Amino acid sequence: MDRKIIVTGGCGYVGSHIVVQLIENQFEVLILDNLSNSSEASLDRIKQITGKRPLFIKVDLSDRAAMAKIFEQHNDALAVIHLAALKAVGESIEIPLKYYYNNLNCLLNTLNSQIENGINKFVFSSSATVYGSPDELPITEKSNTKRPFSPYGNSKRIGEEIIEDLCKIKCDFSSISLRYFNPIGAHESGIIGELPKGVPNNLMPYITQTAAGIRDKLMVFGGDYPTHDGTAIRDYVHVMDLAQAHIDALNRLLNEEQDTPYETFNLGSTKGYSVLEMIQTFEAVSKVKLNYEITERRAGDITELYASTKLAEEKLGWKAERNIDEMIRSSWEWEQNLRSEKE
Ligand code: NAD
Ligand code: UDP
Repeated sequence: MDRKIIVTGGCGYVGSHIVVQLIENQFEVLILDNLSNSSEASLDRIKQITGKRPLFIKVDLSDRAAMAKIFEQHNDALAVIHLAALKAVGESIEIPLKYYYNNLNCLLNTLNSQIENGINKFVFSSSATVYGSPDELPITEKSNTKRPFSPYGNSKRIGEEIIEDLCKIKCDFSSISLRYFNPIGAHESGIIGELPKGVPNNLMPYITQTAAGIRDKLMVFGGDYPTHDGTAIRDYVHVMDLAQAHIDALNRLLNEEQDTPYETFNLGSTKGYSVLEMIQTFEAVSKVKLNYEITERRAGDITELYASTKLAEEKLGWKAERNIDEMIRSSWEWEQNLRSEKE
């Protein structure tokens, strides 16, 4: 019998890659998504890769009554992987209440509905943003967490605290929060990948859209950081590696292998690349020259971030496998496939 997993936000960028790997690992998937930042086309694309179309219910997770009904009907699920959230950092500063309302209500309704129906395993999409400006590099799970600069980031920090509190009092409930560093890349088939609605906020889709001629110019935010080339450094991790970590976390929960009911893991490649290095690598991999200009720093940006993932290696048996060339090549292939589909 298939083992059912509920994936909230499963039509989105990271979620669709996780769903593919769940199906390939013989899980049955139910996706809950309101399609606010994705589309039903994800379901066909997942079927194209795996041969199976996941179950799907279009629902706004902030609708408590609807969620209660869905979870009652699917109380045979073994676990929930919770990705549904709004994620545009800049917008969250402009419209904080929208972000707190959406991200926290999605989380609370999911937790309430699953617990009422005896589904006691939970994987949470968190973010390196919970470390704020880090005190040490590489960042370990023991590094201090700080109030993140943006309401988006803060919704992740508060989310983690809610889950941790729940794990303390409900002895049969257990959870893993996965703190993503910077996910980029696409499935090797080029059939699924990141598809931001409107103008991208993140570096990688901005690079590929500029190279594809959709954007005029990439603005490099800040050339005066105290780094070797003056631009900010991030830890980019392939979305397929990230997806694998969710399978590993899920298995750890299902096999009851946890040391404590609530655990957190960093997911990164452990290597830092500057914005200029990303541009140079993109140009080398794609053979396309990028139009870019160095401009002012973006408010709230941190100089340098990269992860230690020793804990994930030890406890989940997970390590990022794919290098920066593979990340960038797959992002570019996905962008090119999208454009050729549209023509
Ligand atoms: P995404 O926007 O592609 O996917 C999120 C999905 O959640 C979308 O399909 C959206 O329609 C859905 N959603 C949002 N609000 C909803 C609601 N109220 N009801 C139902 N569905 C809702 O984003 P992603 O990049 O795939 O990110 C997935 C998760 O990972 C998010 O929680 C995000 O905060 C987290 N994360 C992402 C990154 C990143 O850089 N991509 C980094 C760290 C953490
Ligand atoms: N960045 C940039 N131009 C862009 C988008 C991003 O220079 O159009 C930089 C940004 O300042 C940061 C890095 O690229 O140093 C990664 O940014 P992104 O928004 O992808 O992720 P973040 O680390 O902010 O979550």
